[in-house]
Amino acid sequence: MTCFNKKYVSLMNKVLDDEATKSERDELFAHLATCENCRRHFQELKQSTELLNQLVHPQLPIDFTKNVLEQLPAEKRHAIRKWTSRHPFIAAAAVCALPMSLIVIAAGRQNMVQGKTDRDRFILLKAPENRL
Ligand SMILES: [Zn+2]
Repeated sequence: MTCFNKKYVSLMNKVLDDEATKSERDELFAHLATCENCRRHFQELKQSTELLNQLVHPQLPIDFTKNVLEQLPAEKRHAIRKWTSRHPFIAAAAVCALPMSLIVIAAGRQNMVQGKTDRDRFILLKAPENRL
């Protein structure tokens, strides 16, 4: 039983992103009731989405930045504060870089799971040989 119908995979993503209409949701869940493969895939997607949401909204204490700065030696602290006040956008981008890179990695893994057509499998199997 190999389904992986692209239509249902895209419906799964819409449902998990809360972008599906009621009829799309109904259609997906009706299919999931009959297709074990899609049901399993949906569970995997749901788990990785939940994991991703935890990464996107890390629960940092309100005084996190203050605490980190206080633990630095005074002169470094001063230099960092001076630098971040002069380059607020770069500092914000640096703070965002870690969760963003995790999202990109997670999205890449998700695409690998979704792209399990015979053609993709062929490419995945062929690639290492071509490198030799
Ligand atoms: Zn299916």
